[in-house]
Amino acid sequence: MQSFPVIGVLALQGDYESHALALEQVNAQPKMVRTARDLELVDGLIIPGGESTTFLKLLEREGLFLPLQEFVRMRPTFGTCAGCILLAKRVTHPEQQSLGALDATVERNAYGRQIDSQIVTGATSLPGGPLEMVFIRAPRLIELGSDVEVLAQRDGSPVLVRQKNIMAATFHPELSRAGGMSKNVDEHLSDSEDEHPDRRVHRYFAQVVEEHSRQTRSGPSTAHRHPAQAATNDRE
Ligand code: GLN
Repeated sequence: MQSFPVIGVLALQGDYESHALALEQVNAQPKMVRTARDLELVDGLIIPGGESTTFLKLLEREGLFLPLQEFVRMRPTFGTCAGCILLAKRVTHPEQQSLGALDATVERNAYGRQIDSQIVTGATSLPGGPLEMVFIRAPRLIELGSDVEVLAQRDGSPVLVRQKNIMAATFHPELSRAGGMSKNVDEHLSDSEDEHPDRRVHRYFAQVVEEHSRQTRSGPSTAHRHPAQAATNDRE
């Protein structure tokens, strides 16, 4: 029987609904994570974009910082934009606290005010050709440990990386569209219906989570059935 991982989305701020939708579209089961108890119920986690300083405050207020730090050592976690900043071991511009999971230095708001938001198409090793990437007040990965794999680049610089069970993107993969459908960020964000989403990055992360669950067999939910499949099987 095929298993479908339960992937949490940290739902304290940011575009967590879009990540949940993207996960559904790649047949993973999304679950909003707001408490330490929620974290125990998921096989992997996405930390969305937003404002990393606000995340830090909210994590502290909810008593989630330490449980999250523990989680990212054990289970696959994907940080996008502010989430990438939270995962990096070293943060500059300015320095700030982090979960310290990804062997990288990240510079916050690295592209300056003039071009603080941009849509760029860049090279990726994910199958299917170049990837549209939406950057919003994005950080820059400026130093990577030797075992950090680069999965996508912008003008030769890493923007999507993986180090074992940790993935990080300096852009917003929940906004990527197939075939470079839009030209500017405002137009992109005001489009409520996205009929051409590119889900390759979420699909890749779901595979990382699935593989990890299979290998460890220690997760709380290693043999999930997708709700639709469960319903079909129950009728049989
Ligand atoms: N500039 C934000 C920060 O420093 C990140 C922006 C984003 O997540 N889109 O946390």
